[in-house]
Amino acid sequence: MPKFDDTFNDDRLNELRRKEEEGLIKALALQYGIQYIDLRGITLNPEAIKTLSEQTSRAGNMVVFEKVRKRISVAIRNPNNPHTIDALAALQAEGYEVTTYMTSSISLEHAWDRFKDQRHTVAVKHGALDIDTDNIAKQVKTFKTPAHVAEHFTNIRTLNSARRISETMETLFAGAIALGASDIHIEPEEGGIRLRYRLDGVLHDIIDLERNLYERLMSRLKLLAGMILNIKTEAQDGRFTFTITDKDVEVRASIIPGAAGESMVMRLLDPTVASFSMDNLGLNTILHTVITEELKRPNGLIVTTGPTGSGKTTALYAFLRETHKPGVKIITIENPVEYKLDDIVQTQVSDDYTFASGLRAVLRQDPDVIMVGEIRDREVAETAIHAAQTGHLVFSTLHTNSAVGAFPRLIDLGVDYRMIGTSVNLVLGQRLVRVLCEHCKEAYTPDAEEQALIEKVLSSHPNPPTFETPLTIYNAVGCDACNHTGFKGRQGVYEAIRVDTAVEEAVIRDPREHIVLEAARPQGIPTMAEDGIEKVLFGKTSLTELQRVVDLAEGRHTRTPEAQADDDAFAAHVV
Ligand SMILES: [Zn+2]
Repeated sequence: MPKFDDTFNDDRLNELRRKEEEGLIKALALQYGIQYIDLRGITLNPEAIKTLSEQTSRAGNMVVFEKVRKRISVAIRNPNNPHTIDALAALQAEGYEVTTYMTSSISLEHAWDRFKDQRHTVAVKHGALDIDTDNIAKQVKTFKTPAHVAEHFTNIRTLNSARRISETMETLFAGAIALGASDIHIEPEEGGIRLRYRLDGVLHDIIDLERNLYERLMSRLKLLAGMILNIKTEAQDGRFTFTITDKDVEVRASIIPGAAGESMVMRLLDPTVASFSMDNLGLNTILHTVITEELKRPNGLIVTTGPTGSGKTTALYAFLRETHKPGVKIITIENPVEYKLDDIVQTQVSDDYTFASGLRAVLRQDPDVIMVGEIRDREVAETAIHAAQTGHLVFSTLHTNSAVGAFPRLIDLGVDYRMIGTSVNLVLGQRLVRVLCEHCKEAYTPDAEEQALIEKVLSSHPNPPTFETPLTIYNAVGCDACNHTGFKGRQGVYEAIRVDTAVEEAVIRDPREHIVLEAARPQGIPTMAEDGIEKVLFGKTSLTELQRVVDLAEGRHTRTPEAQADDDAFAAHVV
């Protein structure tokens, strides 16, 4: 007789009960005509969860898990529970537009766990560790340049110590918001704390703060982000949200240990800044037409390529927006969810929800359009290709240096090269260039060398734009409007390959880059260098800035080793 093992059986039993309950809820949801949801694969918006108190949520066996202005998504266990009915009615009475989902108790327990974070955040907000958002809002109005921020840091040296830490924190955020920084870097060094902001993709030194502020500043920031204070030798992640003048600023913080202490990077996500539309991508007309056509197709894979920080996700978000229409179901699997998009189910990878397992789960939800954050292993590659071949439009990214590099990369990952032609529709390559500040850019006539370079690049352009001679291009100068950087905002420079019969045949015959490029040439899509030169001639960016990211002489994009190292260090920081 087999030995009876209690622990084993208890675990098994719980697992069975769990599966049984999920199955039951799924079946009931179908009967009630309500959508089923598993909250464990979904980013739970802490602001949404707060809509109902913990007490009401638990009493009503429910949780508010998504919230966009007055639109909320509520997961409930039983639509007939009187507490649930009351709470839903109360939400509607408050003007909320409610979408309900059915979910299991395990999902609810998982979501209710987030109230612990809430209790913590509230304690921080109301206690001695408050950050004063009114003060941040006030400072945001006064800071126009990095110098103003540095000056304020210097002026507050005389404040008493408790107030000084608060003021330092507030100035840290106010400065970043006022200057439009995407990230705040705090790096301890022997004699000080180096504070840097990332502005339009480039790190700028703001000030070196005194080292004696470090411990207290770090403790406060770690508390805010929900990190564990006394862990100092491990990487930690956290997040928090604050509201200034009706705008939610979400902060994703990450800490890594170092020789001189922990360094912290905080990424600021301002949901109102992001308006993802095709028009904001800065596509040239040829490519705009190609992409618009491709997005109308019902199935196939569209891949964007480029290094970290080249705007791949932004492009995919714009594509999602473009395909988003009533009756089209869109699901994303991201790592992490960077921006919340209205009406799109966004899920986030975790330990037990990987890109591969997530993609398989998502396919069972019968979506029309799927975005999977990154293809980085064979399993994801094969599942994505399979999805693309079975009636889904699939968006993803590949970490390759060029669009054409996607083909050998997919084959390296184990994709059958004969499958590529029938599944991949389009591969896009991109880099970001900084956009010249309209207030201070300076027109000039290119010198002979620059003129020759521009002509050389344009000579191969499939549909070269015409410009008056002598040519006028622009240099970055710097003024108050652009934090004295000469640039404001960033835009992509692009290249793309459509997978048509010629490209498909080339990939099957010999997928080496120059062979595939040659096969794609008749498509007439400008190269990255050609696209970039157009942007220089239109006064969008400077020649120097373009050369920073694209090697014009080669006609290929390259990155300086420093820029690449900077990106890698940054990628390692921000998960
Ligand atoms: Zn300017």
